Amino acid sequence: MADTNRQLILQARPKGLLAPGDLQLAESPVPELKDGQALARVKYLSIDPTMRVWMAVDTYLPAVALGEVMRAGGFAEIIESRHPDYKKGDRVTGLTGLQDYVIVDASAKRFFQKVPKIPFVSDTIFLGVLGLNGLTAFFGMEIAQPKKGDTLVVSAAAGATGSIVGQIGKIHGCRVVGIAGSDDKCAWITKDLGFDAAINYKHADWKEKLAAATPNGIDIDFENVGGEIMLEVLNRMNLHGRVVLCGLISGYTKEDPSMVNLGNILVKRLRVQGFIILDYASRFMEAATQLGQWKMFGKLKDRETIVEGLEKAPDAINMLFTGGNTGKLIVKV
Ligand code: NDP
Repeated sequence: MADTNRQLILQARPKGLLAPGDLQLAESPVPELKDGQALARVKYLSIDPTMRVWMAVDTYLPAVALGEVMRAGGFAEIIESRHPDYKKGDRVTGLTGLQDYVIVDASAKRFFQKVPKIPFVSDTIFLGVLGLNGLTAFFGMEIAQPKKGDTLVVSAAAGATGSIVGQIGKIHGCRVVGIAGSDDKCAWITKDLGFDAAINYKHADWKEKLAAATPNGIDIDFENVGGEIMLEVLNRMNLHGRVVLCGLISGYTKEDPSMVNLGNILVKRLRVQGFIILDYASRFMEAATQLGQWKMFGKLKDRETIVEGLEKAPDAINMLFTGGNTGKLIVKV
């Protein structure tokens, strides 16, 4: 075992995209174990849009303090243990932080959970389809209450969450339209994932294309982006439609996140519900079982974008905001 722990420390609150130096690589000794603790080596890091929010402001979790290791989800393997519940070789997911080694203890703040070794399945599945993105898609679609024949529109549709949302929509018999930022992404979600249509929002005529792809209006907006995309989707909502407010990524790098036209919500009697996946922690196992079955029977397909090296994590975070990832974005430590 190496005796140094490389860590990415939050040095400055970013303005816009991360700039060099906002996260700085530092080295500290690998922590000494006390009774009731286990030491885990971090193998994979989940790169999530919410990390940019945690760098800036207090939300459902407090902002990361300047000088602290940057908070991040990850997959780690126990390499030494003085904790009765963990033994060497156990594998966990939780808030590992952007670092090589993490202490696993009774602290509830890091949400550690043991995960099994599944033959022929990559470990990274626990950060994607069977991780927070799969769970977010699952519970968000429960809020959406999809019915056969509903038209579902999902934004950031070729991302980790959106790609699963659309496939769950198809399982429920919806007409599924995805909005994504490149022709390749649009081709992936229609040809491989079975979406009925995909709209590249970077094309000048995307609004007309969205109208053509939703001739009967929109019943469910699974909203990952906000801003202009959300405004246009709301314009096309049917009466009593459902808006699942999952994320507003278009605002995360802005000082002044764009406003949503609340008039449409009123006039169309929409039901808008926000949610944070951590609220559903007690039902994660139920959801993961269903997601795992769908995956096993080929009803859920996924893709990963893997960036190599802890030191590349800041660049990887920026990829979320420039559309550099297809499917789940992961850093291999
Ligand atoms: P993704 O894998 O979807 O990556 C983000 C994608 O968003 C990018 O690839 C990019 O794709 C798209 N994007 C970025 N900026 C913009 C923009 N300005 N306009 C349009 N599209 C943009 O990330 P996740 O699946 O992890 O997250 C998706 C959303 O879900 C986020 O808003 C996130 O905050 C939210 N979320 C919410 C949770 C909850 O508990 N409520 C839990 C997990 C995620 P493209 O090339 O298409 O532009």
